[in-house]
Amino acid sequence: MTAYPHLLAPLDLGHVTLRNRVLMGSMHTGLEETGDWGRVAAFYAARAAGGVGLIVTGGMAPNREGGVFPGAAGLFSDTDIANHRRVTDAVHAAGGLIAMQILHAGRYAYGKECVAPSALKSPISPFAPRELDAEGIEKQISDIVTAAVRAREAGYDGVEVMGSEGYFLNQFLVRHTNRREDEWGGSYENRMRLPVEVVRRVRAAVGPDFIVIYRISLIDLVPDGSTWDEVVMLARRIEGAGASLLNTGIGWHEARVPTIATSVPRAAFTWLTARLRPHVGIPVITSNRINTPEVGEGILAAGQADMVSMARPFLADADFVAKAAAGRADEIAPCIACNQACLDHTFSGKLTSCLVNPRACHETELVYAPTDTPRRVAVVGAGPAGMMTALVAAQRGHHVALFDRAPRVGGQLHLAASVPGKEEFLGLIQWFTTMLDRSTVDLRLGAEAGVADLAAFDTVVIATGVTPRDPGIPGQERALSYLEALRGAPVGGRVAVIGAGGIGFDVAEFLVHQGHSPTEDLALWQREWGVGDPAEVPGGLAQPQPEPPAREVWLLQRKAEKPGRGLGKTTGWIHRAALAAKGVKMLGGVSYTAITEDGLVITRDGVEQLLPVDDVILCAGQVPERGLADALIAAGITPHVIGGADVAAELDAKRAIDQGARLAAVL
Ligand code: NAP
Ligand code: SF4
Repeated sequence: MTAYPHLLAPLDLGHVTLRNRVLMGSMHTGLEETGDWGRVAAFYAARAAGGVGLIVTGGMAPNREGGVFPGAAGLFSDTDIANHRRVTDAVHAAGGLIAMQILHAGRYAYGKECVAPSALKSPISPFAPRELDAEGIEKQISDIVTAAVRAREAGYDGVEVMGSEGYFLNQFLVRHTNRREDEWGGSYENRMRLPVEVVRRVRAAVGPDFIVIYRISLIDLVPDGSTWDEVVMLARRIEGAGASLLNTGIGWHEARVPTIATSVPRAAFTWLTARLRPHVGIPVITSNRINTPEVGEGILAAGQADMVSMARPFLADADFVAKAAAGRADEIAPCIACNQACLDHTFSGKLTSCLVNPRACHETELVYAPTDTPRRVAVVGAGPAGMMTALVAAQRGHHVALFDRAPRVGGQLHLAASVPGKEEFLGLIQWFTTMLDRSTVDLRLGAEAGVADLAAFDTVVIATGVTPRDPGIPGQERALSYLEALRGAPVGGRVAVIGAGGIGFDVAEFLVHQGHSPTEDLALWQREWGVGDPAEVPGGLAQPQPEPPAREVWLLQRKAEKPGRGLGKTTGWIHRAALAAKGVKMLGGVSYTAITEDGLVITRDGVEQLLPVDDVILCAGQVPERGLADALIAAGITPHVIGGADVAAELDAKRAIDQGARLAAVL
């Protein structure tokens, strides 16, 4: 008897039956644009082999003007169709099904050719779109239909028509972006004409035995967004036009409400899918911040949806479904919703990967092959870099001992996990703990490893991490380190945080909360961010009502620029907005004169002033902890040095885990 009877139940769509209720949601990985279609095929085939019910590809452009960026992949030629055929063949050979997402970006297209219902530039794009005339609209419909027909020729089992997230079809639905007065604008009947017409013509062109998913925006989170009545009306029309499934879309890309970041509560938007479900006869799919089989099973068992969509969890672990089905759910590498290696990469023009699984999108290049020459490997430091090295080296057949002076594994991941909004890090620590327990790694915790302990090993890997940098501020002996603060040292009501890097922001977040994390309280989180009910406020955009901060906080840096610029590309704005909502005073261009019993003396714009704080917390960066590495070298042993012990600047768990995995793959 499985623990996930609802999740693993098949879903009959008439002409085809999905083997379970798990959809791998669309993600732009950048793989298609590399032109290496063997790699694209390997990526999707690994997920199909891992048991997912239905895969949806990254968005494919129906035409040049609708591509998310110039050169975005699509099905434009016979060569494209042949390339995609390699993907669909590989997925089918692995036992899976795959639908191609058709994504017309409208005014979000990053190029001068972009088109939209009205000539209104989006706040997240430098390009003003051209308003389409009636003929132009017909061309867009025709191009989307052609893309669907070509998808079928390329062997796909279906298409997903992207109608949410503020893209082209969504732009027609609301007055926020559609100011037309012709048959494609004005009344809601007219505004929803385009998406309904697209689905109707796609269905007519592909025939009945082909999956057509429509991704519908259930909550726009922008001004003048859709009302709930409009959402329901659209859903019914889309069903009538021939869609097989309705997938959930949450929030436009320009919305200033986080929808998938790690601080968003799990399954935070499933209540909307649940509310839509009784209004339609076709299956509905829920999405956003679902990352474990338990959460998915709970949603389906409660009747809130017919399927669950997970996207990033399939970067973290291709075998998510297979492990759940085999009773090994605790071995699923958890997506912690950090965006660090996936969306942050995508928006920096880099190939997607995953913080917890560096093999994601690198399946053909980073291979953990069994070793022919097993060695005795010592790894010192059980933080992310050391744990990953030990696991991969042991998996390959090496005899690995993992040392840490602490009585538990995890290193600095424990600090991250103590920050409100970063609770997912606990799951990552738990996963490493489980995997190490089930591996052949000889764990030597609570023991300081010295040169003598390591001399007998063939290979030594130093992953001893970092120590806080000494900023040399007069009076700093009065201050607390971030380690002390995050471990719960008493802190007064007025606090200055020195250093506004990732850790300074984390510490500020820790300080402004009363020990009650909005991430673990959906109603509180909704109030904090102004997520309302679209039945009461259009688009579900309500006035934020943040709780008063637990402390008055100053967050300081020496650089003159705005604090937080170096944070994650897709999450930095969330951290800045969250702290601003709590009244945190973020100051750049600060120099530190002294810490006195009256507070922190700083100089800014040439003016010296006293910040009358009770406590000062040092978050001034870190330096490598290389004592053991240097001692080994002096003793004639050359270790591999990785993670923070190698380079402390800009260290994060992503680089640590990636470096550990890559070293272990070649030991
Ligand atoms: P960091 O990002 O390098 O920031 C160090 C901060 O200390 C900067 O604000 C820097 O600003 C200041 N600083 C540097 N030298 C100083 C000195 N001598 N005196 C006073 N201030 C000084 O390091 P971190 O905050 O320790 O974070 C370490 C890494 O963890 C980061 O690279 C980050 O990637 C990762 N992390 C990320 C997140 C996240 O949210 N994604 C969260 C936590 C940690 P000025 O030089 O301008 O003063
Ligand atoms: Fe999830 Fe982070 Fe991996 Fe992206 S990088 S898939 S958010 S764990």
